[in-house]
Amino acid sequence: MKNIILFGPPGSGKGTQAVMLQEKYNLVHISTGDLFRFEMKENTRLGKLAKEYMSRGELVPDEVTIEMLSNKVDQNPDAQGFIFDGFPRTIKQAEALDTLLNEKNTEIFRLLALEVSEEEIISRITNRGKTSGRADDLNVDTIKNRIKVYNDSTRPVFDYYAEEGKSFAIDGMGSIEEIQERLSGCILDEE
Ligand code: AMP
Repeated sequence: MKNIILFGPPGSGKGTQAVMLQEKYNLVHISTGDLFRFEMKENTRLGKLAKEYMSRGELVPDEVTIEMLSNKVDQNPDAQGFIFDGFPRTIKQAEALDTLLNEKNTEIFRLLALEVSEEEIISRITNRGKTSGRADDLNVDTIKNRIKVYNDSTRPVFDYYAEEGKSFAIDGMGSIEEIQERLSGCILDEE
């Protein structure tokens, strides 16, 4: 089983790349951001709760996020591997993910971090906001807070997996195809 974490700041291209990798390597793509947006659209209790945090660019509390992720993993017992997009975003989430995967006799293979300059991030998110309809892509203060939260709470997850030699930084600048090639090189080089 090949479980991959696609890592990087908001607007680094995780979603786009994850969809392509999912098809290429027959992995199940789980995006916690997409899951929350689905709950919001359906106006569920979880969706209403998530909306409060998302609109401010804050993280949804670990407990609810971990439970939602865990349910999604359980719904895919035949998966040949997962590509986690936007999860884990805290050390607590990373520890919970490791426990969850250990229980299934598997583990994280690699964390691939897309590196993109802050200038480029802001420009990409603002552009996406024009068509995504995402409230958190439109408000400059929210975008800035998402970057701050990434730097404060999420970046340490890179070091957490680096301790096990699993973290790799990938240049996230360039065309979608070029970045896809770089990621693929990192997924295949042990097969
Ligand atoms: P994303 O689509 O990954 O950029 O996520 C959008 C928003 O959803 C984030 O700014 C958070 O408010 C929330 N979110 C997504 N994934 C997580 C997570 N793993 N932990 C906490 N909040 C999350």
